[in-house]
Amino acid sequence: MIELVLGQACIGCDKCIEACPTDVFERGTDGIPEIARQSDCQTCFMCEAYCPADALYVSPESTPLSDRSVLDDAAVGSYREKLGWGKGRTVGSLLAVGPAIPHDGQPPRLPAG
Ligand code: SF4
Ligand code: SF4
Repeated sequence: MIELVLGQACIGCDKCIEACPTDVFERGTDGIPEIARQSDCQTCFMCEAYCPADALYVSPESTPLSDRSVLDDAAVGSYREKLGWGKGRTVGSLLAVGPAIPHDGQPPRLPAG
């Protein structure tokens, strides 16, 4: 669930407002989006992913945090960082590690039944 807009990092680009499928944000009079309808958040992380300033934090919880003071600066933009979106980052899919894929014979199969 969306928890935080870091006002001092926000550049007022409105990308989070455009990305949100459930219209959670309202543009504030200072250009910084406000979390106007937190309960409508679907925890889809799209706002955080698209925020070019790493100014948003979406918690993986589907209910609001009872204590936001537990959040620190490292949490803000951490999902976007893991995706590898943003200047100077390596796209996460290039870093993902899966099981070794055999290049000879048949690929492994789950046992039947
Ligand atoms: S996590 Fe998804 S639904 Fe929630 S505020 Fe961000 S874009 Fe909107
Ligand atoms: S996407 Fe990020 S920088 Fe742009 S308005 Fe939203 S919080 Fe601010």
